[in-house]
Order: sequence, then C-alpha cells, then structure tokens
Amino acid sequence: MAVLKVVEWPAKVLETPASEVKEFDDRLRTFVSDMHETMRASNGIGLAANQVGDLRRVITIEIPHMGKEGGDDEEPKWWHNKRFTFVNPVIVKKSGTIKWQEGCLSFPEVYDFVERASDVWVKAQDENGKDFEVHADGLFAVCLQHEIDHIDGIVFFKRMSRLKADRVKSKMLKRGNVNVEA
Ligand SMILES: [Zn+2]
Repeated sequence: MAVLKVVEWPAKVLETPASEVKEFDDRLRTFVSDMHETMRASNGIGLAANQVGDLRRVITIEIPHMGKEGGDDEEPKWWHNKRFTFVNPVIVKKSGTIKWQEGCLSFPEVYDFVERASDVWVKAQDENGKDFEVHADGLFAVCLQHEIDHIDGIVFFKRMSRLKADRVKSKMLKRGNVNVEA
C-alpha cells in the first residue's frame, strides 16, 4: 500500500477522459487500495484515478458521518462511513437538484457551489469485476457526480458559471506561481 501523489490543476491528466478498465487483476486491486489510502491521507471523501495521474475509470469514495456539529443529519445514512470502489461507473438515471459547496483535492483551498442532480442511480463494477448498482442521494450523489466528471476529464469549475470558473482558475494559477519548484 502506498499514498500516491495527488496532481493539481492545471495538470493535463485532469482534463483527459479515462479509459474503461478491462483487466480485474491484482495490479488493479493494489491500485484501488492505494487510492483509498491516498484519499484518507488527504482527508478527501472522493478520489478519481485521474487525480493520481492514472487514466483508468476508477473512483473511490468514503464519506465520514460528521453528525449535527459537522452540518450533517444526526443519523448516518446507509452510505456514510463505507468504503466504495466504482470501476467503470455509469449514471443510468438522475433526478432532482441539489446545490452543494464542493471542494476538490486537485484544487486546494477552493470551495464553491455547484448544482447537480440530488439523486443518481449508478451501475459499476467492483475491483473484482462484479457488477453492482447503487441509488445515491445527498452528499453521496454529489460526490459520485463530481468523481464521474473527473474520469470524463471534466473538472468542477466546468459546472460553474463563467464568472466563478474564471475566479477558480485565476486563484489556482496564482497559487501555481507561488509554488514553483526550483
Ligand atoms: Zn475533485
């Protein structure tokens, strides 16, 4: 197991669509564990393979239940505190709308509101190639759509108004200048 390096925008891999996974072997399973470990180490609730520089359609999600003080419902939902791995995920149905202030490990310190579907039904495979389907709502639905966008090469500012997107881009580009490595 290893913590992988999370790439930041404007890395090109973040805007490149990932390819379907066809081989469900030990290499894939190791990669999936590394993604989970990386996500935990970075305090993220979702991670897409593109964010660690890999172009396979793999997503990991784990949303801790924060309780009332963390702005959560008192009772955890079925999807809280669970490790999810989605390989080749496809949204088969969506409904409703939800606005959530999103962050992204590839955009440190950037948070802004994005409107998405409040409910999504997603078909995918696990790391062993087994098919499954989930109905996600709330933050789980937001997170799934954010991560599926990643593997399609779509970063979250593409879902914002032009004005907000420009603000995010300039913030990131300024940050880039500050952190130029020697
Ligand atoms: Zn992200």
